[in-house]
Amino acid sequence: MLEEHEKVGLPCKCTGLVSWRTPETVKLPKELIVNKLDKGKFFSPDESWFELKSKKEVYVLDRPGLDKFLFDEAKKEGAEVKTERFENFTRSNVHIKVKTSKGVYETKLLIGADGANSLVAQTAGLEIPKNIYVGMQTTAIGDFEQCAELWFGKNIAPNFFAWVVPENENVARIGLAASSTPKVYYEKFLKSRLGHNGLKPDVAGVIRFGVMKDTVADNVMLVGDAACQIKAFSGGGITYGLIGAQVCADAVEKSFEENKFDYEFLKNVYDKEWKKKLVPGINKGMLFRNIHKLPEFQQNLVFRMVKMFGYKVLTTFDFDLLSG
Ligand SMILES: Cc1cc2nc3c(=O)[nH]c(=O)nc-3n(C[C@H](O)[C@H](O)[C@H](O)COP(=O)(O)OP(=O)(O)OC[C@H]3O[C@@H](n4cnc5c(N)ncnc54)[C@H](O)[C@@H]3O)c2cc1C
Repeated sequence: MLEEHEKVGLPCKCTGLVSWRTPETVKLPKELIVNKLDKGKFFSPDESWFELKSKKEVYVLDRPGLDKFLFDEAKKEGAEVKTERFENFTRSNVHIKVKTSKGVYETKLLIGADGANSLVAQTAGLEIPKNIYVGMQTTAIGDFEQCAELWFGKNIAPNFFAWVVPENENVARIGLAASSTPKVYYEKFLKSRLGHNGLKPDVAGVIRFGVMKDTVADNVMLVGDAACQIKAFSGGGITYGLIGAQVCADAVEKSFEENKFDYEFLKNVYDKEWKKKLVPGINKGMLFRNIHKLPEFQQNLVFRMVKMFGYKVLTTFDFDLLSG
């Protein structure tokens, strides 16, 4: 396992809001759960809003803690860890030679779990979607209702949304993602929501979504953000990444059992398999993204109509579409 940073989980690039599906996928230690929420408030550009109650609670996690927990689990299972930066690879017969900042390794299978700007994907020549958003977030003190807030509008967060996720009544994670100049919108949003914009971001990162044609190449598989296993509406990638990782682990096992590491084999045992599980959700998220294309007056109208007529449907809504 190659990781470029000394401290696992840092710098943090995530809010850590996940649905009930995450603790169903991985048995999380209790201390990683910072808060539990069961409702979200959705604000339209004119600040009218509706509330959505989740069927099951969503969890606010200690996000660096989650990485550390998964890292320790991998070590317990025998993973050998090196703090080195992956640089590139070349192919030689059945192996590939991986060059890092500190050395060269031979492997039959390279798993790129290296995030939204995956160098493994780029080196393998895999086409990466161009839908990119930059997110930034801070931790603020104040009085916060125990619900997730989502704020929409092209003057708030172009093509995405801003969020307030409380850790408790007095502390919240506040941020947004946007397709351009996120810092400008971040400062503007803090000012309108908190009354000041003096807080520097303590979380920042790239969100990339879309369905990649291939997430495998000869001797290579991508997983997590590197494979765009991410919800298109919310940018949440923890649950999908964990599901992708399970399919990936099964595929690795099959690959070694049959001693096959070529594109065709990996396409069948991994790429097609994870897509069966996750692509319907990704496509649904793409559909929901159409809200961003509407002019603001129509967005306001949609929010009002949902508030008036959609409440019954929304109380049984699967919040997993919106969280991670
Ligand atoms: C602002 C923001 C808020 C978000 N909020 C949520 C949320 O609330 N819920 C949710 O589910 N998702 C959220 N996401 C998305 C979520 O962060 C990602 O989906 C998730 O972290 C992906 O995990 P990953 O392990 O695939 O990639 P990453 O977390 O990016 O991990 C990649 C790892 O690879 C390492 N690495 C990269 N390149 C190299 C290299 N060349 N050599 C060695 N190591 C390398 C990195 O150091 C890092 O440790 C958010 C994203 C952003 C930007």
